[in-house]
Amino acid sequence: MKNVLLIYTGGTIGMQKEKESSSLKPVDFKKLTSSLPELQNLELRVHHTSLKKVIDSSNMDKNYWREIAEIIQLHYESMDGFVVLHGSDTMAYTASALSFMIEGLNKAIVFTGSQIPIGSRRTDAKENLITSIEIAVSGKITEVCIYFENKLLRGNRTVKVNSEQFEAFDSPNYPPLADVGISIKYDDNNLLKSDKLDLKINTNFSDDVAILKLFPGITKKVVSAILGSSNNIILETFGAGNATNKKWFINLLKVTIEKGVFIVNCSQCLTGLVKQGEYETSSDLNKIGVVSSKDMTTESAITKLMYLDGICSSLEEKKDLFIKSLRGEISN
Ligand code: ASP
Repeated sequence: MKNVLLIYTGGTIGMQKEKESSSLKPVDFKKLTSSLPELQNLELRVHHTSLKKVIDSSNMDKNYWREIAEIIQLHYESMDGFVVLHGSDTMAYTASALSFMIEGLNKAIVFTGSQIPIGSRRTDAKENLITSIEIAVSGKITEVCIYFENKLLRGNRTVKVNSEQFEAFDSPNYPPLADVGISIKYDDNNLLKSDKLDLKINTNFSDDVAILKLFPGITKKVVSAILGSSNNIILETFGAGNATNKKWFINLLKVTIEKGVFIVNCSQCLTGLVKQGEYETSSDLNKIGVVSSKDMTTESAITKLMYLDGICSSLEEKKDLFIKSLRGEISN
């Protein structure tokens, strides 16, 4: 009989209101699900655990990521797959972070959650949960993914795109891992192949990272403040990686890079990729050493920077690994 571990971290799926007028807060998920008929007679053993403190995922940080990775490591041999129940707000960040934290993965880690709590009549939680469990023990997936409202997506390619509809996620630059309808048809061409290495977790994430989102009219004061705040910066640019080429802006970036700060270029667009040099407004970025993140999501780029800053011993090594696909997060 197969074994699956449900790891509840918090989020709407297990939230309840104390009174009709109060806000939603995470509660004991096991209590909510142990009576669910949908989880009985599945011909597999469903095990439960949760973070020491369950949270709304807006409070997520690298310490919770470490806790999730350590739970998976502890139960890795005894389980066939893992389902992480997580709030949708930062699910794409956590799935990206975990994909970098865990190396040598040979089993599925499926993130899911819901837009309506599992205890409510119109909940989307049950289908998300049951299908995620099926995917986790299918033996087909050996990567970190997100299953939500009939979509199975690579975790580090996913973004939250909707806070109103059940269909909350998309992976604009990578095809779905499966076609989920009456049956689940996995697309072998899109799945990450297992590298058959031993499981290794690297939880030494750095928080020395920042994002500078450009907008028309951004001031020198704002740009200087953010560039001076961290050693690893994402420049969120326009379109295909374009930014103002006003002299003060390019000079500020140049001086910052010369000091050893690592700056990467991520587009504000969801679909498409950064092509530094295509327009005049991105060719200076190329010349001064800004590194293109190509088609990576911002969620993936920021967590990759946290990971690389923790493991790399030189700027060169960081650059080499950043532009390389480590877990399928960037196209070659
Ligand atoms: N605020 C919630 C969270 O991310 C929303 C959700 O669960 O979907 O934890």
